Amino acid sequence: MATKCKKCGKIHFPPVADCGECLSSDMEWIELSSEATIEAFTHVVVRPLTFQDEKPYTVAIGRLKEGVRVLAWLVGFKPFEIKVGMPAKLTVIEKDGNPIYVFTKPE
Ligand SMILES: [Zn+2]
Repeated sequence: MATKCKKCGKIHFPPVADCGECLSSDMEWIELSSEATIEAFTHVVVRPLTFQDEKPYTVAIGRLKEGVRVLAWLVGFKPFEIKVGMPAKLTVIEKDGNPIYVFTKPE
């Protein structure tokens, strides 16, 4: 879910209460399509302390059909499969009891 400004139409993800574009507080909820195009990615081998228990992972920026950019882990791809411009699906998984966003292969 994201918020859309009723005044200027700007879509915010993560959702916000006030529009950063026109400062209006007149927002509505919209459901995002989850269809994304990968714009940038990086393989993280030297992990920060809080991720020492993780295997090396890939972080990507994807642009959703609605135009918003999302930063999330990319899961389920082999490293050589990952390319800028490829389609991916934004989905929610549970990790250590918390919901997190990840990009996965589209069906
Ligand atoms: Zn606005």
